[in-house]
Amino acid sequence: MADKFFMHGMVLSSVPIGENDRRVVLLTQERGKVSAFFRGARRAKSELSAASNAFTFGMFEGFEGRNSITVVGAEISQSFDEITRDLEKVYMGYYFLEVADYYAQENLDETERLNLLYITIKALNNSAIPDELVRRIYELRTMGINGEYPNVFSCAECEESDHLRFYDRENCIMICEECMKKISEKNSNKSSNNKNNNNSNKNGLISINDDLLYVIQYVISAPLNKLYSFKLESNLQNRFIDFVQDYIQKNVMHIFKTEKFLI
Ligand SMILES: [Zn+2]
Repeated sequence: MADKFFMHGMVLSSVPIGENDRRVVLLTQERGKVSAFFRGARRAKSELSAASNAFTFGMFEGFEGRNSITVVGAEISQSFDEITRDLEKVYMGYYFLEVADYYAQENLDETERLNLLYITIKALNNSAIPDELVRRIYELRTMGINGEYPNVFSCAECEESDHLRFYDRENCIMICEECMKKISEKNSNKSSNNKNNNNSNKNGLISINDDLLYVIQYVISAPLNKLYSFKLESNLQNRFIDFVQDYIQKNVMHIFKTEKFLI
């Protein structure tokens, strides 16, 4: 028999297979995304029955067969049962799992994504943080882990990090005040006959103030254990939510099945 090994991770999805088993997708520290058979998990008395539920976080003991991994034991450290008692939260939670499943890869180090998912499900359980805010923080940080986040740390023209004021929605970059002045001057010289060219929104540019910029930068770069530990006044929170929603709509082409259940 093949050697047993241990994986720490979270159940992303689980479907019944045959009479007794389940096929489970796990996000693990050791092997990235893993698809595994939970042998006997459909039997009521099996210890794998509860361990194969979505959201379960714990340690899984398995062995490698010729074509697949079989899990034969598990130790649950968090089951996040509370989520399943609130329909809105459970839909949101399933969406988070689907996003992680979509971006995670096999045999890659997905520790940061696993840790993000874990603290995000915890934050979803925390009634002090609005679900919509948890969602947008999770989405933006996910893009950060993917390395496809908006460049909000320096000016795309001069590379300075001060006085960043304008966000270019088309190219997902920032332009500083100085460079914006130069660009505007150039444009007005170029087409001084065009009456409508001084509307910056036309070019997909929006003005972003320092508070909002700081929040966006923080969510992309803060240590994970501090990601959900800040409070925003409602106006700033709404602008942050709008910013991420707009960014995701423009840049994520994939349609997540679970997203249509979100309000
Ligand atoms: Zn600049």
